[in-house]
Amino acid sequence: MNPQFQYDIFVIGGGSGGLTVVDEAQKLGKRVGLADYIKPSPHGTQWGTGGTCPNVGCIPKKLMHMTALIGEIRHELTATGWQGVDPHSKHNWNTLVNEVQRQVKGINKGNDDWLVTTNGITYYNKLGKLKDDHTIELIDKDGQSEFVTAEYIVIAVGSRPSFPTDIPNVKQLTITSDDLFSLKNAPGKTLVVGASYVALECAGFLTGLGYDVTVMVRSILLRGFDQEIAERIGEFMKISGTKFIRGTIPSSIEDVDGKRLVKWVLNGQEQTDVFDTVLLAIGRSADTQNLGLEQVGVETNKESGKIIANDADSTSVSNIFAIGDCVQGRLELTPTAIMCGKRLIKRLYQNGNQIMEYSDVSTTVFTPLEYGCVGYSEEAATKKFGKENLKIFTSEFTPLFWNFANRKGTCYSKLIVKKEDDVVIGFHYLGPDAAEVTQGFGVVIKLKAKKSDLDNVVGIHPSVAEELVQMQTWK
Ligand code: FAD
Ligand code: NDP
Repeated sequence: MNPQFQYDIFVIGGGSGGLTVVDEAQKLGKRVGLADYIKPSPHGTQWGTGGTCPNVGCIPKKLMHMTALIGEIRHELTATGWQGVDPHSKHNWNTLVNEVQRQVKGINKGNDDWLVTTNGITYYNKLGKLKDDHTIELIDKDGQSEFVTAEYIVIAVGSRPSFPTDIPNVKQLTITSDDLFSLKNAPGKTLVVGASYVALECAGFLTGLGYDVTVMVRSILLRGFDQEIAERIGEFMKISGTKFIRGTIPSSIEDVDGKRLVKWVLNGQEQTDVFDTVLLAIGRSADTQNLGLEQVGVETNKESGKIIANDADSTSVSNIFAIGDCVQGRLELTPTAIMCGKRLIKRLYQNGNQIMEYSDVSTTVFTPLEYGCVGYSEEAATKKFGKENLKIFTSEFTPLFWNFANRKGTCYSKLIVKKEDDVVIGFHYLGPDAAEVTQGFGVVIKLKAKKSDLDNVVGIHPSVAEELVQMQTWK
């Protein structure tokens, strides 16, 4: 402990990454300070402790996604003789929002209690700003400042939704995921702008809840993911009722009697439609403005605002670290921010030497037909190893329970294997419970298992996952 400083370690930002650092450091008896402050969205939406994931990210998103999936089962319930279920019953938005917010507030309370009662943690519900390499200014909601000092500083301020710069009043005329999960009025006919994780997940569950949803896609679906599967996701969403407008972006958005008149140009022709809600999901920007980074000499990418950190999470100022969504080149996922925080504390205080590895991280896109993957996409593997050096195994299948109510569409899986050594380098699964199925294959890929190892595994019958250890057809 260095008595020169008030804190051994001070964390700015109490989300997935920041809270992990606080937890791990306090367990080692360190004097830990945390500043976490939520700047309201342009519509004034605010939330409690825990950062993006439990408040306006993973958790409320998954609850709404699951609600839409539960709605689907109405058809199977009717087909299998459950009485009193109307497969065409309407969904009540307010009931869902209240339930989601009840669960979110439960998580907030758990965090609040822990932050306030744990020895060694001092929590400030204040905006943090760097003053010098060991001093942080803490500003409360009334603009009052105090200053604290720390030996190490960790910046974990996350990211916030981006807005286009060329549409007047866009922040007032649209909502983002920051507003959606606590929206007081049902979204109604919705235009979702964007075509990646957030856009497709939200469009998927809004369609499932019964809304008229259109996705406006600038270029491709799910950039960076296996494109054959991305297109299959799009096809499945179309079957489920989501509409797509591809190859364009809104050219203007206007308020007309409380509705949104959206114009866009497609094939040289201007087109228009009127929506109740426009949900922007065009990516996220690092929340690093006004953090005092430049003044202290912490390097950032001028365009994206993201902090530049090395593999050991150190910024250009050696005692200042940065983790999670606010760092350039990191995967923007909760478990990566958490593992990164754990490893940082191990390195700082317990002679750890492991750095966070961002390759072969399993992930799932919670679209109506879920997509889990780990390792290379077919495009990335082809680019790196050459098509002639790969074996691509695929399988198309229908889950048993889909036959009850004749669900349309099919599931799909793909394994990418290097011919040279038979090692599986990519796993892709499009089907029910993708996150649950994919997690175990994350271990398969990490252990560099061979296709022959998978062939030696006896499947679990009847299941969808048995398809994945019996793939014999290659493209
Ligand atoms: P955050 O969790 O964003 O926390 C940063 C905190 O710092 C916030 O509380 C912020 O208010 C605070 N802060 C900012 N500036 C200051 C300041 N100057 N002073 C004090 N406090 C400050 N990931 C998954 O793994 N699975 C999912 O299913 C998933 N779904 C998602 C769905 C949506 C709609 C979104 C938007 C994201 C989703 N993510 C998902 C991504 C995941 O939420 C983020 O990657 C993760 O929360 C990042 O953690 P973090 O600690 O870097 O930042
Ligand atoms: P992404 O950065 O992943 O995608 C942005 C999307 O918006 C792309 O489709 C992009 O199209 C499009 N876009 C960008 N600019 C514009 C514009 N000006 N007009 C129209 N479209 C535009 O952002 P997301 O918000 O979807 O997700 C952020 C991160 O959050 C993800 O990377 C992920 O790590 C995390 N997340 C994880 C989830 C999970 O684990 N299930 C769920 C949700 C989020 P183009 O391809 O043309 O650039």
